Amino acid sequence: MGTVVALNAHPDDESIFMGGTLTKLAAAGHRVVVVVATDGMMRGDDEPDPTQRLRELDAAATELGVSEVRWLGYADSGHGRDLYPDPPGRVRLVRADPDEPAEALAAVLRETAADLLIGYDPAGGYGHRDHIAVHRIARRAAELTGVRLVEATVPREVAVRLLTVTTRLRLTRGHDLEAARTWFTPAADITHRIDVRPFVAAKQRALGAHRSEINGPGRVARLMRILRRLPAWLIAPVVRTEHFIEPGSTTQSDRLL
Ligand SMILES: [Zn+2]
Repeated sequence: MGTVVALNAHPDDESIFMGGTLTKLAAAGHRVVVVVATDGMMRGDDEPDPTQRLRELDAAATELGVSEVRWLGYADSGHGRDLYPDPPGRVRLVRADPDEPAEALAAVLRETAADLLIGYDPAGGYGHRDHIAVHRIARRAAELTGVRLVEATVPREVAVRLLTVTTRLRLTRGHDLEAARTWFTPAADITHRIDVRPFVAAKQRALGAHRSEINGPGRVARLMRILRRLPAWLIAPVVRTEHFIEPGSTTQSDRLL
């Protein structure tokens, strides 16, 4: 059995972008370690409960069968606005010297004798600056250690199709649709398509563990509201299958290990 280390940007990304795959790997007997770069906290010292999202990640990890969660110690850099000042005692991920988190991740890969590292695609998924940072950190850590790397993504055409519908329904705006044309990865470049149908329920329970996001004013709550208004057939391609690219490979596969 192998060891898989999955680098994510924020608590909840592990459930949204790879939850079914991580559950499937764990169910097959592999050891799955989730490394999260940031604590997902935007505010500074007025945060009522600064460790809340990391605790929610622990609960989500239990649902996914993940054996261990580690935090690299950075704060959330936020999306689509000016970068806030650093909160006390933590640096926002994009302000860090890029070698620092890569070396920290490389140390985890060596310590766990990892067989596979999961990072994010070059677009950083939907382009959040912390997701682009995760792409670079994982590539660098793979170079430093020689551990095999795959990158989580979504077929770009599916994202554009979804945004076309939600823009017509006025659930999202035209600029989201324009942006989606550079998000994720063209379907033709995807190397791994993982059937996660038996693990959709576990993935939903894991997402539900991120209570402050599900019930909060943020991105995930908005995404959930939008998804609930769409027909099942439209969202099925991203719910039932999870997608990865292996840099430098064109071999198609339905399994990561
Ligand atoms: Zn994220």
